Amino acid sequence: MAAKLRNCISCGKIFSSLYGEKMCPSCKEAQDRLENSVIDYVRANPKTRMPEIVKETGATDLVIRRLMEAGRLVGVNLKYPCKKCGKDINRGQFCESCAKEIEAEVQNVSDKAAAARAAAERGRGIHSKDSGGRGKGK
Ligand SMILES: [Zn+2]
Ligand SMILES: [Zn+2]
Repeated sequence: MAAKLRNCISCGKIFSSLYGEKMCPSCKEAQDRLENSVIDYVRANPKTRMPEIVKETGATDLVIRRLMEAGRLVGVNLKYPCKKCGKDINRGQFCESCAKEIEAEVQNVSDKAAAARAAAERGRGIHSKDSGGRGKGK
């Protein structure tokens, strides 16, 4: 596949992206270094807290969070806010109750979709001659 020219999402410089990278090589390298320093720092200081890592490594909490969500900072007692309610969590993107809520919402949506489908099926099956009442309001 041919390389594509694109703008680095970090510095804006145009570079040729061979594998769909979003960052130029030098930004990618800087990011890798930063991520590794976070991982090293956390490994050396397992009881550290988010603000400390930010201060010590210069990484933003977004970088740290991304590492956590990717499971690259495991075994650390690090907390970061749930994406939905802001409660402290230490893995994934949502706290347990929000995860359940989201699951229920998804379930609800698919239930509704199923109900709508069922109603449509029923609608097709019935050809009532006496045109009265329900559903003809509009
Ligand atoms: Zn760059
Ligand atoms: Zn939550």
